[in-house]
Amino acid sequence: MFKLLISSLTVLLLAGCQNITPEVKTDKKTAPAKTRVEKSEAQKTMQKHPMQKPMMHKMFQSVDKKDAILVQTGPNKEHCAMCGMNLIKFYKTSHAAKLNGKNIQYCSLHCLTEHINEGAELENPMVVDVDSLKFIPVTEAFYVVGSDVPETMSPVSKYAFKNLDLAKAFQKKHGGKIVDFYSAWQEAKKDFQK
Ligand SMILES: [Zn+2]
Repeated sequence: MFKLLISSLTVLLLAGCQNITPEVKTDKKTAPAKTRVEKSEAQKTMQKHPMQKPMMHKMFQSVDKKDAILVQTGPNKEHCAMCGMNLIKFYKTSHAAKLNGKNIQYCSLHCLTEHINEGAELENPMVVDVDSLKFIPVTEAFYVVGSDVPETMSPVSKYAFKNLDLAKAFQKKHGGKIVDFYSAWQEAKKDFQK
């Protein structure tokens, strides 16, 4: 009788152990599942990261759409009248002028020069002031030519400032020389002499 009780207890204990074992297994199963969730979240973050990279490598010329002044009208108002490139993307080198009373906008001094070379009689040429992002007459601009900041459509950098001190600060940081529009235009003409 006593032996039977012991064997029964052993059975119960074993049964108890068997009952515990699956619980432990369940816990173990839950744990890797959690890890998997954490991993997928990490993967999501990694997937997000390359999406943020183009923002970090935004070109110097580019601005937000709300900050860009577009003077042309019609369906191609966001595009350079000569090469068709996006004017918001290349805004800080943008130029504008009037042709037969119509506003024309260019991505760069290069494209404005090309239009003049083709015989366009442009009036009131303007350039974007890198600081205020507003158009100013080219005659009021100080151009920093030959800095290390990439130019649009040309190997030689040309950025315009209304304020001479800001042009000097830009030059101190990026190099180049400060010239007037006429000299910058002569530099742009060289793009077509090759
Ligand atoms: Zn252009």
